[in-house]
Amino acid sequence: MPDIIQLLPDSVANQIAAGEVIQRPASVVKELVENAIDAGATQITINIKDAGRTLIQVSDNGCGMSDTDARMAFERHATSKIRSANDLFAIRTMGFRGEALASIAAIADVELHTRQHDQEIGTFIHINGSKVIAQEAGSCTAGTNFLVKNLFFNVPARRKFLKANSTELKQIINEVQRISLANPEIGISLIHNQQSVYELGKDDNIRKRIVAIFGKNISQSLIPVDTETSLVKIKGYIGQPKYARKTFGEQFFFVNNRFMKHPFFHRAIMQAYEKILPPESFPSYFLYFDVDPESIDINIHPTKTEIKFENEMAIWQIIQASVREALGKFNVVPSIDFDQ
Ligand code: ADP
Ligand code: MG
Repeated sequence: MPDIIQLLPDSVANQIAAGEVIQRPASVVKELVENAIDAGATQITINIKDAGRTLIQVSDNGCGMSDTDARMAFERHATSKIRSANDLFAIRTMGFRGEALASIAAIADVELHTRQHDQEIGTFIHINGSKVIAQEAGSCTAGTNFLVKNLFFNVPARRKFLKANSTELKQIINEVQRISLANPEIGISLIHNQQSVYELGKDDNIRKRIVAIFGKNISQSLIPVDTETSLVKIKGYIGQPKYARKTFGEQFFFVNNRFMKHPFFHRAIMQAYEKILPPESFPSYFLYFDVDPESIDINIHPTKTEIKFENEMAIWQIIQASVREALGKFNVVPSIDFDQ
């Protein structure tokens, strides 16, 4: 029998890996905006056409890339953020897997304009389905500007699987809300089909950013949470029970400035609100955890929204106690009558 095993070409390997990182247009937005944050940007503009099917453009005023780095950035496992496996246990950046740009370039048409602040000339790169079409020097503004066109042009199954534009846009808005709430000090604009969705100026605190996103009405409902233990610091806001909504969507956990999904911690909050919520409703919460980066594992899923905590049970109890205490301070006690 002849030998039959072959290494896959990079373009195919990238396309396979892309399936895990890039599920839909919102995933591209997430990855590009996280890169802008890691680059130290203070202003990020996200310009979308047709819910991301035709164009996802993210431009930032961050550090920019050198000519060589601009090309390297599209290689798989190419990253400036970690150097060794040890670094995985103390992640302070949003990215570290070095997969996003290689993945995006494998399944879309990508243009990159980038310039470092101390350079006069920048770099332009055009990549389509992992193939470099052009790389040349040129003038451009300092920072980085990515244009991602024709997402999934070579993955018909994925393209077909995309939902209606309204649904895909909602996913993008969710992603932008999470990132904006995690980074109130960064100015963030979201434009869809030339109409402004968000124009968030730099906000100096979380409360202002919450109001900028969800509107003035939420302001009166916000109860502050502020707890400090040796395991975790928890800051942020929870919503008064009477403002709870039937629909899920204003529940946010952040750990070390990264949005995370945590159904187990969510239950700690739901239990703290037990008996004081209108039936079948969810309280809003915006809770920011600060923990030792060595006590969490971010690297359990390619999208990094699931996070494993070393002291999960203890933190669960701290969350519940903090929420109870905050509700108690605001005299929100289980005697509220809902049948008025
Ligand atoms: P990761 O973020 O995990 O390192 P990516 O594929 O997202 O991997 O990006 C690869 C590298 O490209 C980054 O490590 C960074 O050095 C560089 N890079 C990407 N986007 C930007 C940006 N907006 N500004 C400056 N550098 C960037
Ligand atoms: Mg990245």
